[in-house]
Amino acid sequence: MAPSRKSEALIPLQELDLQIHRLKVQRSEKPQLLGPRREKVARARSSLETLQAEIKAVRLESAKREKTVREFDEKINKLEEQARQLKRNEDYHAMMKEISGLKADRGRVEDGLLDLYMQLDEKSKLEKLRQEEVRAAEADLSEEQRKVDAEIAVIDAQIAELSSRRSALTAAVDPEMLRLYERVLRAKDDGVALAAAGKYEVIEEEGKAAYWQCEGCSVGLTSQDVNLLMAGRELQVCRNCSRILYLRPS
Ligand SMILES: [Zn+2]
Repeated sequence: MAPSRKSEALIPLQELDLQIHRLKVQRSEKPQLLGPRREKVARARSSLETLQAEIKAVRLESAKREKTVREFDEKINKLEEQARQLKRNEDYHAMMKEISGLKADRGRVEDGLLDLYMQLDEKSKLEKLRQEEVRAAEADLSEEQRKVDAEIAVIDAQIAELSSRRSALTAAVDPEMLRLYERVLRAKDDGVALAAAGKYEVIEEEGKAAYWQCEGCSVGLTSQDVNLLMAGRELQVCRNCSRILYLRPS
């Protein structure tokens, strides 16, 4: 088929390109579906990390107190050793009083230690739950990722199929017009480079009046634009949105 110089020749190409454009938009929106699941994983990980930091702090505090208990033990043992060698009764009693004071202090540290062990026990149980939450959220995310990847693959196949049909359509279009069309297409984010000149009849006092407008941007066309378009000798673009104008085949 010889390339046509009339912009109507772009209609099938524009229809195809619009389908490709819509598929690309759909494709670009797919990864957003993962957002809430990614956030869930991040929240679960962060709450596990907070808990693990707490566990670390409790372990550190327990180790400190265990050391303190050992120091008390050593001190008490030493004093008990010394007490056995004391000859005078009052020296012995004074030493015993000191020892019992130390034992009371050690008891308080040990009580605190027991409380820490209980906290550790509870936090360790909670840690297992939190780890399970992280694993579940990660599994949920990767399942959704597989679904999204499969959907994207389907869209990619559709885009490839449509694109393969494109060259047959571009061959039917005048090369100069095609270049302009593709330039406008790249500049528009709605995938529309070809706009129909739409005719509207309005009843006015003087009778019926016809108005024309670009259906790409709804801005009115002058009668000169429309006459040139009807003559079909040269390409007409909308003065407002630069889209290539065409007349709907009647
Ligand atoms: Zn326009």
